[in-house]
Amino acid sequence: MSILVVGSVALDSVETPFGKVDEVLGGSGTYFSTSASFFTDVNLVAVVGEDFPQKHIDFLASRQVDLSGLSTAAGKTFRWSGSYGYDLNEANTLDTQLNVFASFCPKLPESYLNAEYVFLANIDPELQLDVLKQVVRPKVVACDTMNFWIDGKRDELIQTLKYVDILLINDGEVRQLADESNMIKAAKIVLAMGPKTLVVKRGEYGATMFTEHGVFSAPAYPLESVYDPTGAGDTFAGGFMGYLASVRDHSDAAMRQAIVFGSVMASFNVEDFSLDRMRSLEFDEVRDRYRKFQLLTTFNGID
Ligand code: AMP
Repeated sequence: MSILVVGSVALDSVETPFGKVDEVLGGSGTYFSTSASFFTDVNLVAVVGEDFPQKHIDFLASRQVDLSGLSTAAGKTFRWSGSYGYDLNEANTLDTQLNVFASFCPKLPESYLNAEYVFLANIDPELQLDVLKQVVRPKVVACDTMNFWIDGKRDELIQTLKYVDILLINDGEVRQLADESNMIKAAKIVLAMGPKTLVVKRGEYGATMFTEHGVFSAPAYPLESVYDPTGAGDTFAGGFMGYLASVRDHSDAAMRQAIVFGSVMASFNVEDFSLDRMRSLEFDEVRDRYRKFQLLTTFNGID
């Protein structure tokens, strides 16, 4: 089953303690689509400016991402710049230029309207809702956001969340959205906003899923070489949704497996800058790391 995603397609400038890159391929929609494309077909809705390099479009096409919903508008492509200190869990946004996204009014291509799996990647919550409303009968709607929108468009975000089944955000964002520092209490507050499932991404500490039935936690894959965490969250979401859509199952058991696939995909992405690790990644490596995850977390019970 294919996935419809709306999100940013960007040129990123990033500095980490291990290197620096300028105007490289980035964006929440880009990371998500690339990661999900390892599992299923992806239909991308986004806009780029006239300055967007053709080689990046060719890369997305090489991953079989359907680009009929990617338009080119007069003006400049979305740009984001950020830096990380030795604590790679925390991105410092240095600059966000919405550019062509500021006036983007997407009209979904006919072939996207019957999407069953929809991912609202991190972008203006008004735009997320605008896209969602065009989809005829979505079956599973998942969503991501960030401090920029929780701060700047809180009411619009809360409106969008009413239509969301699964929210995937990081721990700081859960606290900020709920205005509550205790994670368990904060999760309850967020679940009362609409989503039935909350997946909290905790960087190198893994991910935790909250539902009305309980809590599930998975660690992150232990890695010695992490170069650039940019896009880890979107890549996680791509593996998570990609797996769910590929098995057409969103039971608790499938969601647990999806969290591990999300963690596996994110663990590859942080091994290099931009999406460079994704360019050489093979699905056998994904499967192999999934099995290693199983060994990492299996232990005997007690009588
Ligand atoms: P992540 O590290 O998974 O949170 O995602 C990083 C990506 O999100 C970068 O490639 C940015 O281009 C993109 N991004 C950063 N800020 C925003 C924003 N306000 N709206 C949409 N996308 C953004």
